[in-house]
Amino acid sequence: MNTFSGLSLLLDRVAERRDEADWVAERARSGQARFLVLDSEQQAFAQPDGDTLRWLDATERASLLPDAPASLLGATEQHTFFLLHASGDGEAVAQALGARRMHLREAGLRLPADEAGLFAYAKGLAHWQHEMRHCHACGAPLQLVASGHRAQCTGCGRLHFPRTDAAVIVIVEHQGACLLGRQASWPAGRYSTLAGFVEPGESLEDAVRREVAEEAGVRVDQVHYHSSQPWPLPASLMVGFTATAHSGTIQLRDGELEDARWFTPAQIAEGLADGSFATPPKLSVSYRLLAHWLLERGGLDLDALIARHR
Ligand SMILES: [Zn+2]
Repeated sequence: MNTFSGLSLLLDRVAERRDEADWVAERARSGQARFLVLDSEQQAFAQPDGDTLRWLDATERASLLPDAPASLLGATEQHTFFLLHASGDGEAVAQALGARRMHLREAGLRLPADEAGLFAYAKGLAHWQHEMRHCHACGAPLQLVASGHRAQCTGCGRLHFPRTDAAVIVIVEHQGACLLGRQASWPAGRYSTLAGFVEPGESLEDAVRREVAEEAGVRVDQVHYHSSQPWPLPASLMVGFTATAHSGTIQLRDGELEDARWFTPAQIAEGLADGSFATPPKLSVSYRLLAHWLLERGGLDLDALIARHR
């Protein structure tokens, strides 16, 4: 499963109770409450060893961060989870909690999957709450309602909801090779699958065809869904696809990529062995798409290949 995905298997977001302020407040005071603290830069707080989050219970919340606003995240049978906003200097908060700050990218690689998923969810919500201060329609200040999941305009009354920007990401295949590109700013040797944001009036499949044509001049026909991943950095949803190209001719068109090439499984294995090829970050959908393709087409285990040549 993709990093940050699968939270629905264990967490009930209890969306139908977000407006029940008394119920939410009672849960927040109960022994079941667990608070995930984010600082003003939306970093979380982990135990000093970095292996798990530093959760607060209701007693610790009352003593350590009594004025920090909370938003209901959801519930399991054992716990009710809340996002807690700690204002001020993140390092000072870390010291007060006996914890260390942790960025979401690090969390995706180190924390247990459920904690990383909760952090991603909380970060996405916190970012939206932070950005949404004024009404798009009339400019009046907004007020958070529904335990932080909606914002209501104090002027015209309009409701605003958290938004997610969809981006497509695709591994394109042609005659036993896959299409990967690199941007000039990336570490040497790193190649990744092509990706881009969905535009207005576009289906996901249309966005795949357009992005591949724009970035590499390659036309694709069959486009198949693979998997998705929340990517709240700050507000995206990555939707992964596989696709097949009409022809192998590459023409870099929009200047986003410095290079794009077809790689066979053998070329990737050789590049990893001699250090001339590097994969996208391991927590990304791009890595998963590449790993899936290498296993299917080349019988290669990407994790094992990387471990062997580290
Ligand atoms: Zn308004």
